[in-house]
Amino acid sequence: MKYPVIQNYFGGKFYPSTTDKFLDIISPLDGTLLSKVPLSTKNDLNQVVTIAQNAFLKWSKVTIKERVQVFFRYKTLLEKHMLDLAKLIQEENGKTLDEARAEIEKSIELTEFACSLPQLIEGEILEVSKGVECRADYYPVGVVASIVPFNFPSMVPNWTIPNAITLGNTMILKPSESVPLSALKIAELLKEAGLPDGVFNIINGDREIVEAICDHPGIEAVSFVGSSKVAKIVYSRASASFKRVLALGGAKNHLIVLPDAHPSMTASNVAASMSGCAGQRCMAASVMVAVGDINLIIEQICVEARKIIPGQNLGSVISKTAKERIEKYITEAEKQGATILVDGRNTIVPGKEKGFYVGPTVIDHVTPTMSVATDEVFGPVLSIIRVKDIDEALSIENANPYGNAAAVFTQSGGMARYVIDRANAGMIGVNIGVPVPREPFSFGGWNDSKFGVGDLTGESSIRFWTKLKKTTTKWNPEAKTNWMS
Ligand code: NAD
Repeated sequence: MKYPVIQNYFGGKFYPSTTDKFLDIISPLDGTLLSKVPLSTKNDLNQVVTIAQNAFLKWSKVTIKERVQVFFRYKTLLEKHMLDLAKLIQEENGKTLDEARAEIEKSIELTEFACSLPQLIEGEILEVSKGVECRADYYPVGVVASIVPFNFPSMVPNWTIPNAITLGNTMILKPSESVPLSALKIAELLKEAGLPDGVFNIINGDREIVEAICDHPGIEAVSFVGSSKVAKIVYSRASASFKRVLALGGAKNHLIVLPDAHPSMTASNVAASMSGCAGQRCMAASVMVAVGDINLIIEQICVEARKIIPGQNLGSVISKTAKERIEKYITEAEKQGATILVDGRNTIVPGKEKGFYVGPTVIDHVTPTMSVATDEVFGPVLSIIRVKDIDEALSIENANPYGNAAAVFTQSGGMARYVIDRANAGMIGVNIGVPVPREPFSFGGWNDSKFGVGDLTGESSIRFWTKLKKTTTKWNPEAKTNWMS
């Protein structure tokens, strides 16, 4: 085993869990046993919550101008440790080093946004009638929990940590049980940046600890990022114990390609979108809806896809189970009459025979009811559905229950606007295969891709991580009293 058994982190120190249940952490790159992760108990959680509650009493009284200083230093530390962090992400998640590095760059951008929060929450004040003022101030909500998935071990935790903590909350992070190592590094860097003990804490585990978080009366707010199935469970369970909840779910993103699309730009964008992070992105292209005759573009997509080599510029998928699930979708589509143009099944990377690799896969003549077209495959697989016109393309996109992202490839501004207005998704790309809004724009989908109001990043997050206090003041004894003041 390469690393020691994972511990929980609270009060500024690492402690072993009281559990006797552990899961192996296997590197998907080559099957190496990296460590073991504890499935923490309710007693562990009680201890962590108490520490976070005590820390909240002090941290919430520190001014935001002071709190934010920690994140200026944290940003510098992320830059300094970029390579080490990227290597660790690569090891536990299986993505390429460049992809891991990009994830840290995004974490830095998220931290920069948090550093601007003092400018964004200055509050409001207005004389509402003669001598009477109303003012609004933002207060932190208390102990908050952030439950995160496996596919971005640094970026997704950093969607929540800098904003929630700068705004005065104390946090308990529940990392994915598949990739808990990067979170430990985050804890170390936050401590080095000067974050007081108890403000940031980590509890490891799986379903049981997530349920305990949802039920715990000492936790005021829960953010969740993961599959839609679990997002629904977390949303309803944490709401049932009267917490505020924002739960981001899975995705099935449709890219609509029109006959006037720029061929080479479209081909490279679509291929990169479906294969980046081995297709394990909630913003990945999953279905390409081909409008009219775009055979030339499809041929170019296949050329681009063949340039993507597993173990070189394509990472592994997270587990053996994931590899088998993805390959099953491809085989089912083939049996149902689809044409496999590029086949990534049975991929073995020399020297990494125990790794979990699926090569880029392009499937043509998929129909909207095939499972590869309806389910979240979460692998480097592009399904092409052929349609005759834009309205048929939109009706397919609109019918899918998710709504994270959609994109259109065209050189016509009018057609782009037509799709922007009609696509049923929260994030739209025009000639962009991965339309992630960069800070300060917020990230969040619609429909089954998000449960709750507002977004988790950007200015929208301010409302989620704070409570608004409205104060009405009158000092002037001569001010007239009316029925409102
Ligand atoms: P997952 O839903 O399996 O796990 C997410 C978290 O929930 C983990 O911390 C896990 O321990 C916990 N969990 C798992 N099963 C649970 C259960 N039954 N009850 C309570 N908690 C449970 O997701 P994953 O496989 O880690 O990540 C991939 C998924 O995340 C994909 O669906 C992807 O689209 C989604 N995702 C969405 C976004 C977004 O912004 N919408 C971003 C990243 C990932």
